Amino acid sequence: MSSNAGRVPDDFDTRLRAAAFAWLTSKTLQRTGNLTYSEVQSFIFDGRPIPLKDRVKGIWKPASLSSALSITTTYRPPGVLRPYDDLIHEDDGLLRYKWEGLKRDESTNRSLRSAMQSGVPLIWFFGVGKGVFKPIFPVYAVDEEEENRQFIIDADPAAIADHAEGIAEQFLRRYLKVEARHRLFQAVFRGTVMRAYKGRCAVCRLQHGQLLDAAHIIPDRDEDGIASVVNGMALCKIHHAAFDVGILGIRPDLVVQIRSELMREVDGPMLRHGLQEMHGKRIAVPSARAERPREDLLERAFERFRRAG
Ligand SMILES: [Zn+2]
Repeated sequence: MSSNAGRVPDDFDTRLRAAAFAWLTSKTLQRTGNLTYSEVQSFIFDGRPIPLKDRVKGIWKPASLSSALSITTTYRPPGVLRPYDDLIHEDDGLLRYKWEGLKRDESTNRSLRSAMQSGVPLIWFFGVGKGVFKPIFPVYAVDEEEENRQFIIDADPAAIADHAEGIAEQFLRRYLKVEARHRLFQAVFRGTVMRAYKGRCAVCRLQHGQLLDAAHIIPDRDEDGIASVVNGMALCKIHHAAFDVGILGIRPDLVVQIRSELMREVDGPMLRHGLQEMHGKRIAVPSARAERPREDLLERAFERFRRAG
């Protein structure tokens, strides 16, 4: 692009980022909430296409901005139970993002450093499938650890400051960081589950994204309640709630069971079509074997369902 690209006014930067966030919000409201690489490239601002991420590089700065706009974490296929644990530092629980290559002054690293210094919000594209991304925003580069060649990424620092008044700030900060990290991983979990289940309820095949949840087979408050696709299922709101309270169970051979008292109840169409008619049906699972619900987790959940009866 033009040689004066770095001299665009700050107002342009602010407007572009705000427009990109609004566009991503509307694009991800429906369906799975994920975007493919080519969808990410279809953003237009002031009549010009502005790519939101690079095809290869992790850190991306459009020519018209003077600092980075997005970072990308490549998809990691299932097999690892906690695939993103290495992004979290065990001492402080904060998220790390590695430099591009080994050189401090690589142009991409400079652009992310510049975003850190000016405090501008970034988009984090998390790979949740091959060429499929869950955008998480806004996030901020809040610090850099040169000896480890990495940046520290965090949720909105202003939000932390807003809440800090009158409370022991250090405890609150820690709490909010844990919360921010939890939200991020839940968003990645949702993106992965929605992609694997093609944005449909495993029980009834409902395909309306706003009515779908990424449900945990073993709840996430449990030690085994991992945020991995093998502990997840895409379920509509009603089947998710029915699963969580033990009205609906899923046998380890993937067959739906409805609580027997409910099978005898007489009520309207939701009970009849939505629940009773699901009894004995097989759930739809991902085509990739490695992404299907893990049998031991289903067994444990089904045992809980049986005991509740
Ligand atoms: Zn459903």
